[in-house]
Amino acid sequence: MENSKQKKASTLARMDFDLIIKNGHVLDLSSKINKVMDLAILHGEIVASGKEIQQSDQAHQVLDVSGHYVSAGWIDLHTHVYEHATILGVNPDICGLQKGVTTMVDGGSSGAMTFAGLRKFIVEPSETRVLAFLHIACHGLAGAACSGNESGGESDHLNAIKQSLCVQCVKDNPDIIVGIKVRLDKSITNNGATEHETYARALWASKEAQVPLMVHHTNSSIPLGSHAQGVLSCPGSLRKGDIYTHTYHGHPSSILDHSALKLHPSAKAAQDKGVIMDVGHGQGSFDWLVAKKAASENLWPDTISTDLHSGNVNGTAQSLPYVMSKFLALGMPLQKIVCAVTSTPAKCINRDKEFGRIANGLCADLTIFKVESKLELAYDASQKSQFLKEQFIPKIVIREGRVIRLNL
Ligand SMILES: [Zn+2]
Repeated sequence: MENSKQKKASTLARMDFDLIIKNGHVLDLSSKINKVMDLAILHGEIVASGKEIQQSDQAHQVLDVSGHYVSAGWIDLHTHVYEHATILGVNPDICGLQKGVTTMVDGGSSGAMTFAGLRKFIVEPSETRVLAFLHIACHGLAGAACSGNESGGESDHLNAIKQSLCVQCVKDNPDIIVGIKVRLDKSITNNGATEHETYARALWASKEAQVPLMVHHTNSSIPLGSHAQGVLSCPGSLRKGDIYTHTYHGHPSSILDHSALKLHPSAKAAQDKGVIMDVGHGQGSFDWLVAKKAASENLWPDTISTDLHSGNVNGTAQSLPYVMSKFLALGMPLQKIVCAVTSTPAKCINRDKEFGRIANGLCADLTIFKVESKLELAYDASQKSQFLKEQFIPKIVIREGRVIRLNL
């Protein structure tokens, strides 16, 4: 079926485009594109590529990006950008667009009772596209634990877990809210007393609102897998499309059995079922040993995200390209890494018909980058290190067709 956008591209011949990006090495595994080609942009959309662009075509701006890769704009699926309202929040334009990231998805900084501020003060004024997972706790996630590293968190009391309010807020804000977030850890669920019920309500709410559930599972009373009837587990109880974030953490609920040095079978089983295994690097949620062991057993992340917040932006996570570079060091193929920050996260938040791929009619959000030799020791949460030899270096981002050169 020829849609109106394809028709628009074919009738544009010999007319002016807003922008032609020439000679870039375009990468999009989801569309099987891996070659040097040109892209044409009009009114903020990709409208033509390769041979569809004719010699005689004109553009207001021509950008020659020879020697650079061009991918769909990078998507960071787990961040904390509720700046000024929460202690964790970082600025989405400084930490997003300026690092090559065109979409930042907030990982539950707001709940149903605090979401309106995220829309008004963060989403609306930001140049970076900001989307959000809504926390199942009505006030959202203010700090790593609400009172620092000690006990005290958003799900200590079940009075805050207002699942119907959460569902209503998701349904009222489909332009921004893409899923629901829950954190499973004894320190934020009254030493585990509220953990099972909080998880059950979050699973119910995401099913009811028909959006994925993103789960943080670190030092939890919920087991990784269980075959017993009625016993919740994580990732065992997650469904196709749900997101298991912090996949490579080294805390007690780690997917790596540290004594046997083997991955728990529920991790691979979850991925095989269609659960999205997300990085969510964070401050304390990336461990080189877990990541190396997972790589050796071919458990690569489906999505690469930073869990960027005020506690790690100047620490071990730094930025999305830095976390991507860690996976390059682990041996993850470049094209798969690009997929993990473009088409896969776009698909898992059900936005792949709007952005995240290189195709006519999609939003012209693009990241133009190089992979450069840059030797650096990169640390994990427990100060173990590993050399990065090459790093992803974003140079230019295109946001809805607008060219933004990065100050690096
Ligand atoms: Zn987080």
